[in-house]
Amino acid sequence: MEKLQAIRGMNDILPENSLSWQYLESTFQRIVKRFGYQEIRFPILEHTQLFKRSIGEVTDIVEKEMYSFDDRNGNSLSLRPEGTAGCVRAADQHGLLYNRQQRLWYQGPMFRHERPQKGRYRQFHQFGVEAFGMSGPDIDVEVLQVAAMLWQELDLEEFLVLEINNIGSAADRKEYSKALREYLQSIEGQLPLDDDARTRMHVNPMRVLDSKHPGVQAALGDAPVLYNFVNDDSKDQYEELKMLLTASNIDYVENPKLVRGLDYYNNCVYEWTTDTLGAQSAVCGGGRYDGLVEQLGGRQTLACGFAIGIERLVLMLDTLHKIPEEALKPIDVYVACVGENVTEQALALAQAIREEQPDLGVISHCGSGKFNSQLKRAFSSGAKVAVILEREGDCNAPLQTGKIRRLDDSIEAQTYEIAAIPKKVAEVLLN
Ligand code: AMP
Repeated sequence: MEKLQAIRGMNDILPENSLSWQYLESTFQRIVKRFGYQEIRFPILEHTQLFKRSIGEVTDIVEKEMYSFDDRNGNSLSLRPEGTAGCVRAADQHGLLYNRQQRLWYQGPMFRHERPQKGRYRQFHQFGVEAFGMSGPDIDVEVLQVAAMLWQELDLEEFLVLEINNIGSAADRKEYSKALREYLQSIEGQLPLDDDARTRMHVNPMRVLDSKHPGVQAALGDAPVLYNFVNDDSKDQYEELKMLLTASNIDYVENPKLVRGLDYYNNCVYEWTTDTLGAQSAVCGGGRYDGLVEQLGGRQTLACGFAIGIERLVLMLDTLHKIPEEALKPIDVYVACVGENVTEQALALAQAIREEQPDLGVISHCGSGKFNSQLKRAFSSGAKVAVILEREGDCNAPLQTGKIRRLDDSIEAQTYEIAAIPKKVAEVLLN
């Protein structure tokens, strides 16, 4: 029978790769904890309407990329394409945003029907942080400090550049869209757009700015510039943001073309990009979204946050060999047992090592086998040390001693009393 394969663009994360993931996840979780952020978990499936109302009807994500279907009751549901909408929905539904500041984080799978390529998948994973109830730019800088500390702890700092822009308020962008639409209409004949793109140009003209088409980009030379439509408060806040970033030693470059593909952002938006991943250069994106809670039916609530693409970060860590060797070791100790009636003692000894040394991974050999084949398994397990209980002959009395052997043979194997092994093993590992 033909074997079934995973869905295109949806990856299995196999044991050897999951160690990189765990290293990254534990580093991220440690950092957000140090900043006082608390975890929130919310469903992978939500009402389609949630994403339409937040991300925007006329965006690539909602128009082309969502996994949407009707459930058995006829409700339109969608797999979440990003985390902010669900996070806001959950936090507001449970009253977490009412007259309060909140610092939240989440992680998990997101789904977008994009064309898969290196660094771009249909099921991918994000870490996100969202902060509510603070006007900024101090909180914006704090959120960026979280990302910067992550790059620092992962030793990726030199490979990431922070790009920032000020896209003003929703009202500013409305005015700007109007001016841009008028401009685009005046040059419509020169724009190499298909019918779809032409329709979108009328509904959401800012999307034309993102076009990768060189002909479109060439025709945009004299297009109105968003910055000229941004209100003075936004501009002041943006200046302060830049000052605080400099004071916090976070380098940035300004990119006036950065608008981001989701409608809910306002004022400062940003992206961390890298040139180590080829075409998919964005690793983290975020900004302020002060109108979103209200747009989803809640009270007016100031908010900002970012999302990091986990696959892209893992790719960076792997290609740049930035994962510490220690993090890639699945286990430390392999307990081998050879001969008659040693199984019981081997299981007990492995357990005693786990109890004495809670940070060590200990595998107890199962399934019998000759000494050499057990040793082979010990080598392929990645353990640094083998503990060997070996009975020669057919006596039934409990063994008194066992050996500890460094599998790199950097020191000679030694025999110890069994009761001393759980303590000794840590010393031998350190040598
Ligand atoms: P966005 O919500 O589009 O701003 O995405 C935030 C981050 O998620 C990006 O900077 C990427 O690192 C990551 N990301 C977005 N889409 C994908 C995808 N299809 N595959 C892998 N990572 C993605």
